[in-house]
Amino acid sequence: MTDLSNAAEKIFSGEMTIIDYVCELSAADSGREDCPSDLFYWESVRDARKNGKKLVFISGPAPLEILYALDCVPLYLDLLPARLSQNPVLTAKLINEAETRANASLCSLNKTNTGLLLKGVLGVVPDAFVSLPIPCDSARTACTELGRIVGAPSFHFDIPLRKDSRSLKYVEMQLGRFIGFIESIASKELDWEALKYRMELSNRAAELLEKCAALRAAKPCPLSSRLTIWNELMNAFAPTQEMEKLLTKELELCERRTSDAFTPCPDGEKHRVMLMHNLLWQGITLTEHLEASFGAVTVLDGFLFGARERFTRPDDKDDCFGVMSRRMLEGSRAHAAGASGDELLDAIELAKRDFSADVFLFLGSAGCRHAWASMKMVSDSVQEKYGQPMLLLDIDNTDSRYKSENEIKNAVDQYMDTVINKK
Ligand code: SF4
Repeated sequence: MTDLSNAAEKIFSGEMTIIDYVCELSAADSGREDCPSDLFYWESVRDARKNGKKLVFISGPAPLEILYALDCVPLYLDLLPARLSQNPVLTAKLINEAETRANASLCSLNKTNTGLLLKGVLGVVPDAFVSLPIPCDSARTACTELGRIVGAPSFHFDIPLRKDSRSLKYVEMQLGRFIGFIESIASKELDWEALKYRMELSNRAAELLEKCAALRAAKPCPLSSRLTIWNELMNAFAPTQEMEKLLTKELELCERRTSDAFTPCPDGEKHRVMLMHNLLWQGITLTEHLEASFGAVTVLDGFLFGARERFTRPDDKDDCFGVMSRRMLEGSRAHAAGASGDELLDAIELAKRDFSADVFLFLGSAGCRHAWASMKMVSDSVQEKYGQPMLLLDIDNTDSRYKSENEIKNAVDQYMDTVINKK
């Protein structure tokens, strides 16, 4: 395994590509029973052209079923900063690149993506770029920047902020044009049977993910929740057999542990945490710390926990395109921008009622400025309704120079000691 500072040096000198490095990081997770390894996905991105597929860069929750049905491999760009943030030296270099040569007002997640494309170190070249900006300023600006940099034909969805029937019609109209665009990239027409197969796989993944999430309500909770990671992976390869295999493994692990009354807390489960964050892979270290130091297991994480809409009438084209359009309108589930204040309050209600959460932590990325306004409102409501103060902590989800892992742990420790355990 390439060490952290060595990796940055190798990548910037052209000795190694980002994709090769990400494959290494994912391979290192392969032996962990409790953490998903997405190695097969990165290998499919790396080898797309070799396998006769078209490689499509995507930003935002694009209709994956159509892409996979047309033999395209989507590279979900958000997954790159999530993975690379494990290497602060490399991430800092990529952020600096974006600040110098592009837009300094982007959040660090978007700067990392922009920096690696500007530097030309990714190691794969796209056949097309599809953007579907989530509702935040940084994502919208980044989509335009990325479209300029990738140098491939691009399709930009215009997603309205309002979620009503007119907005839905507007997105459906764009979906029709999108299919034509991807057909021209793939040089073939969309085959409905191939699309039905992908929709069926998507349905199965959604069903498995919901079962995995529901099992965290068990007492004791068998495994800290990884919904943030799963939701991000769903945006990259939900309609694949590999995703089904990953989730089946997770479900079997949770079921086995539930029947054994297993808890990941070495001294027994004492608290149940709702962790609102988009720290992705780094979040695993924090959940492990909470388990070991406070007997606190994370029963829910991420921002939205609602069920994913399924394809229930696979032979009805209008119905299927309606489902895809509604999903696009809903926004990204792994970002703070994906949820409204009302939805966040509903999520807290669910965490209290169905998952017996008694600790509420919000680790908000400093770059997600819009999320702070709604979280202040949410934390005031939680205080008023349940008489419980939430921890609102500013961090950076990609750039650990803003707040180190130790600083984050110290702040969480203080909250656990003083507010929850009243020491
Ligand atoms: S929601 Fe936050 S992390 Fe996501 S793109 Fe917007 S500012 Fe960046």
